[in-house]
Amino acid sequence: MTLLQNKVAIITGASSGIGYATAKLFAEHGAKLVLGGRRDTELAALVASIEGMGGKAHALAGDVRDENHAQALVATAVDLFGGLDIAFNNAGSAGVMKRIPDLSLEAWNDTLATNLTSAFLGAKYQIPAMLARGGGSLVFTSSFVGNSVGMPEMGAYAASKAGIIGLVKTLAAEFSPLGVRVNALLPGGTDTPGATMDTPEALAFVKGLHAMKRIGRPEEVAHSALYLASDLSSFTTGSALYADGGVSITRT
Ligand code: NAP
Repeated sequence: MTLLQNKVAIITGASSGIGYATAKLFAEHGAKLVLGGRRDTELAALVASIEGMGGKAHALAGDVRDENHAQALVATAVDLFGGLDIAFNNAGSAGVMKRIPDLSLEAWNDTLATNLTSAFLGAKYQIPAMLARGGGSLVFTSSFVGNSVGMPEMGAYAASKAGIIGLVKTLAAEFSPLGVRVNALLPGGTDTPGATMDTPEALAFVKGLHAMKRIGRPEEVAHSALYLASDLSSFTTGSALYADGGVSITRT
């Protein structure tokens, strides 16, 4: 079954991890893709691999903190593929990890810009394109951090990821009546280059926080993104979907 046949999707943060796995999965399901990230080489290799599978994809390298880039991603989808149906606003970064009294305002602002203002900029340009098409699906990558779990040294990240949930609920209230569904995806610890579990001890600790006593694979999170992006979730909007191995409910 192909779930995204003839759908046009933007995926940010496609150069590695969850976004990369999602790009491959969406392509397998027939979507035409505009792929964002700052690393040209990784994006070009991903496009080549999708085209090798017979899929359609175009890379547009840029920074999600840049309003012009948000606008250009949408313009590319419209110019190359005729419109926009889906956006997976997934780019993000843990940022500088320090306790709040030790965190500079510059580091705070940068993490908020990368993770939260980027979501605003994405929605600002993606929604009009979806409305022009008669509807669509927006998915934002949030996190268990800042929603079900408080993690030391992740204050800016937590605030940005919690902020996404508020933005999603507002957007869903504003645009679901017009056919645009808006949802957040909350991965648990996931085995990607961006994960902050950089020692065996940290990895064992994070695995232990999850009810499943493991972290996720990016492909597992990609399947939840596919669910939210596709008509499988046609009655789901304004939600915050955990794809987190039970990290939100574990107390043992
Ligand atoms: P990742 O492999 O490091 O991927 C992060 C992606 O975001 C990369 O493609 C990166 O591309 C892009 N990105 C970061 N800053 C950017 C910027 N300023 N402009 C444009 N692109 C930018 O890590 P990941 O784990 O897959 O992260 C994907 C999302 O999942 C993030 O929002 C993250 O917060 C969230 N998340 C991850 C976990 C986890 O445990 N891994 C858990 C919960 C939530 P370039 O480097 O090429 O710019």
